[in-house]
Amino acid sequence: MSETKVFEASPEAKGKAKQFRMYAFIAWILAMALQVFAIIKLISDDKLVLMIIAIVAILATAIVGSTFWKKSNKLDPTSEKNAMRFFFQNQLGAFMGVFCLLPMVIMIFTSNSISGKTKAIAGGAAAVAMTAAGVSGIEFDPASIEKYTKEISEQNKTAKSLNINSDNVYWATDGTKGNKYHAFDDCRYVKGKKLSNGSIQKAFADKGSSELCKICAKKAAKSSVPAATKELVPQE
Ligand SMILES: [Zn+2]
Repeated sequence: MSETKVFEASPEAKGKAKQFRMYAFIAWILAMALQVFAIIKLISDDKLVLMIIAIVAILATAIVGSTFWKKSNKLDPTSEKNAMRFFFQNQLGAFMGVFCLLPMVIMIFTSNSISGKTKAIAGGAAAVAMTAAGVSGIEFDPASIEKYTKEISEQNKTAKSLNINSDNVYWATDGTKGNKYHAFDDCRYVKGKKLSNGSIQKAFADKGSSELCKICAKKAAKSSVPAATKELVPQE
């Protein structure tokens, strides 16, 4: 009688995702502004060094943007039902990365006021940066409502098989890295840390994709062995 509940991001996760999307756009706007400035002011032979610095700064800013964008999609994923939207929402970072440097590449290579050498160095750097910005913006493992729903239902099944209360698991909320949740609040990975607790579904909604901590899984597997056979389990 296990019904599959469709994943829905919690209001907190949605709020955070919205914030991250805003940060992403701010970063992209900054990168674009820097690009416009570089195109207008820096494409000349005697400003080659500044041009390279600007290209690196644009690349870094574009990557900050796509990193926030990817995080927002993990927190508040879209549905696979609308294939176009699913594609563009997940891969927007790649497009923005390219847009942040493509005009610069074109302007450098078509400029009449710079030498062939400057063109080769600056143009080459801009082209490499554009490729890096594009590739780093690609989401290779896009989250979706359907995927989260499936993962949660599988996690619930695993938890049930280990006799873990899937409605009361723990996860660290103090910015600890990792996407694991824990069956026991005294697990050594989270002991003494600030914890949230709730259903596996909530762990997903709050922290993005999550899986059961291996230590907790082992502990649960041990304690769920029926008492009569417990003595037969080799002790570590
Ligand atoms: Zn644990």
